[in-house]
Amino acid sequence: MPKPTRERLVPRAQRASRSRRRWLLLTALSLVAFIFVACGGDAPDNSKSPADLPSDPVTSLGADDSSGAAAADGTSQIGPASEGATLATDPLIFISPREIRQGESFVVAVDAPGAGFASVAFNGQILSLLREGSRFFTILGVDALTPPGPLPLIVSVADSVGRPVVQRESLVTVTDAQWQIEVIELDESNSDLLDPLIIAEDAAIRFPVQQVETPERHWNDIFDPPSTGVITSSYGFLRSYNQRAPEEYHSGLDFGAENGAPVLAPNAGVIAWVGQTRRRGNGVLIDHGGGVFSGHYHMSEVFAEVGQVINAGEFLGRVGATGLATGPHLHWEIVVHGVTVDPVQWIRLLNFPDPLAEFDVSQAIQGPNQLDR
Ligand SMILES: [Zn+2]
Repeated sequence: MPKPTRERLVPRAQRASRSRRRWLLLTALSLVAFIFVACGGDAPDNSKSPADLPSDPVTSLGADDSSGAAAADGTSQIGPASEGATLATDPLIFISPREIRQGESFVVAVDAPGAGFASVAFNGQILSLLREGSRFFTILGVDALTPPGPLPLIVSVADSVGRPVVQRESLVTVTDAQWQIEVIELDESNSDLLDPLIIAEDAAIRFPVQQVETPERHWNDIFDPPSTGVITSSYGFLRSYNQRAPEEYHSGLDFGAENGAPVLAPNAGVIAWVGQTRRRGNGVLIDHGGGVFSGHYHMSEVFAEVGQVINAGEFLGRVGATGLATGPHLHWEIVVHGVTVDPVQWIRLLNFPDPLAEFDVSQAIQGPNQLDR
């Protein structure tokens, strides 16, 4: 695609795309600067450095860009709010819940009529929020091994032409789930599945698929369990194989069921992957949109095709014992922006991370607009 030289020659959709990319880059730079300062200069290992950010001549800072940039001293100088403040009302930013247990998910929602973009920086990721009407949202989560304590979260909102309007920081508190240790005995035929190469092979096949950010929501409401079997193992158990020290946590729910029992789609989505790994056996990944995936593993048979649009309750295949399995069961995972979280929260009403919930205005995130500094 030829690089456009003048703004007025660029089609409308392309201008919107450029504005969006510029906005994300500016947000990223500003947030990196802020997090760096917040940590006293000792940035966490998983935070992005400016060198990691995408370089794009179209969105590079300077040139005709009037928005400014993150200053070298770490203070955010993304343009005076008054210059770009085209929103009629101050955006309302919600985090729900604000205290989560290790492995739990939560909603970030922004009610901002007239806004063009919103993004969030959390735990080393910078993500664009989905938009439905005047509600911008995403679901975030932490894995089972995230250290307990407060984690900073920064939400940024831009107007319809990509000018930053509001940037607010808050904290999400992670509490200790006090996971128990589950001892699993493997016989000789299964022991080789602990081979690091086999684990790496499984990750290399599945992780790129479940880290895709589809910019629309396919799922609706609370998820259904994908099996009528009983839950035989919970998320988060630290796993010890053959008396060895625990090396990993159980990343999903296990449903004990007979060989051949049906596996059903837990919610609407698009089939993103059907395949087999030596560790997980036969599996299906459903893209529910907005960075949310569900994974179904150890199946005996899969009756789904990549690209297939699927509704909640549709038949995906059958329970089995393929891969690293001591007997027939379904291993079911929920993945949020690449993080495996506790699926129980998604199938029970308590603490379900509903992105469209009506929030109490008094619960909106307060505090200074960091763009006013
Ligand atoms: Zn499992």
